[in-house]
Amino acid sequence: MSYNPASLKAEEFISDEEIKAALEYAEMNKNNTELIDEILEKARPVKTETGYRCQGLTHREASVLLACEIPEKIQKMYEIAEEIKLAFYGNRIVIFAPLYLSNYCVNGCLYCPYHLKNKHIARKKLTQEEVKAEVIALQDLGHKRLAIESGEDPVNNPIEYILDCINTIYSVHHKNGDIRRVNVNIAATTVDNYRKLKEAGIGTYILFQETYHKDSYETLHPTGPKHDYAYHTEAMDRAMEGGIDDVGLGVLFGLELYKYEFAGLIMHAEHLEAVHGVGPHTISVPRVKKADDIDPGAFDNGIDDDTFIKIAACIRLAVPYTGMIISTRETEEVRSKMLKVGVSQVSGGSRTSVGGYAGYTPEERPHDTEQFDVSDQRSLDEVVAWLMEKGHIPSFCTACYREGRTGDRFMQLCKNGQIQNCCHPNALMTLCEYLEDYASDYTKEIGNKMIDEELEKVPNEKAREIARENIKAIRNSDRRDFRF
Ligand code: SAM
Repeated sequence: MSYNPASLKAEEFISDEEIKAALEYAEMNKNNTELIDEILEKARPVKTETGYRCQGLTHREASVLLACEIPEKIQKMYEIAEEIKLAFYGNRIVIFAPLYLSNYCVNGCLYCPYHLKNKHIARKKLTQEEVKAEVIALQDLGHKRLAIESGEDPVNNPIEYILDCINTIYSVHHKNGDIRRVNVNIAATTVDNYRKLKEAGIGTYILFQETYHKDSYETLHPTGPKHDYAYHTEAMDRAMEGGIDDVGLGVLFGLELYKYEFAGLIMHAEHLEAVHGVGPHTISVPRVKKADDIDPGAFDNGIDDDTFIKIAACIRLAVPYTGMIISTRETEEVRSKMLKVGVSQVSGGSRTSVGGYAGYTPEERPHDTEQFDVSDQRSLDEVVAWLMEKGHIPSFCTACYREGRTGDRFMQLCKNGQIQNCCHPNALMTLCEYLEDYASDYTKEIGNKMIDEELEKVPNEKAREIARENIKAIRNSDRRDFRF
């Protein structure tokens, strides 16, 4: 089928033929240092009057970089990836947690323990009372942003159930707590259902492609509605049609050849840009993990940490305005390296079981309904302190979406350099809330020092003054939720 990024047909915008041609081109040019230097130069952020501008890379160009094995060129990729991250996202890292609602599932995904044939995993679906308890527990940790997760089951988890849960989550206000943005990671659905999710006030709609390779996709999803490759791959277009303009892509690395997946992922981003005028809001890079009846070794395409980090750097170069997410599937060590090459969001203190937060201490970890093993088992407070020790500002900000700065309006903010006057103080104010309401003494001490230093870096004098006053109010009263 002929390749057409603007087509609405999965097999035309993710063309197997074009991916193979791109990989051949990449292989042919992986030692072509002249071309590689040109591509690196193209990826570099350029300073403008108002901020920075980046062109990004095509899937072919980015594939050449990914194929290149010359150490000094790889080093250059890492340096430029960090430059891009700092130009558009500064030193802020957004924090979120997953909330598992239900592990009932009718699909047969071979890598996921929630698959229908798994008869020994405990099945659980939260009641609204239990959702409330989970949200209180999450608020008590300090979270403001959640990603809700659920298996696909039209009887047990219909869209009405998901909508009820979203309403419950937004309605809970415990002490100074508040969940201000609910991102949703549920199976591909209809335009009507996406519209309902939009109306319920969701942030990003996240759906991992798992694999862009159609034949492997069908083998890995032998049964259930998720078997339909086109329906799954075209989900983001339906989400956009339903009014959701922040969508999150992802590949589950380990299932197929990583170079193939990478080209597919960048082509998917190009497709969204071509059709909707806005690329993906985020890209996630999960790797297959051990789980109840899942052995990651059963999949042939596992990638080592160095390759994984190179993939992240190449994503950063190819789609400079897209946020990049790394979850607690990865260890502290890998997460540290990923932060250097452009990751902008991390989860912290995560539980991947249904009902994993309420009634448990930060050290306790229920495994019965868990989706996969979590490698980074630190508490949220430890993650917050760690980020600051590494010079990143942990941000609990949710302002853009609440101020209507989604889709291309968010990208505009990114492009016109107002981020430093807007996102920077927002990050500091929400960090201040965290420190006042939830942090340990140590975290509070280093955090307050960071806030005072970073406040001085807000370029606009008026914005700086307002932020300073707001931080004073947060420190001295129960006033919360200031934002630009
Ligand atoms: N059921 C929805 C779907 O099909 O898209 C929601 C997603 S599921 C709760 C979240 C994601 O977890 C999946 O899209 C998959 O990529 C990932 N996942 C599943 N099994 C995994 C495993 N063993 N290790 C790591 N990630 C896994």
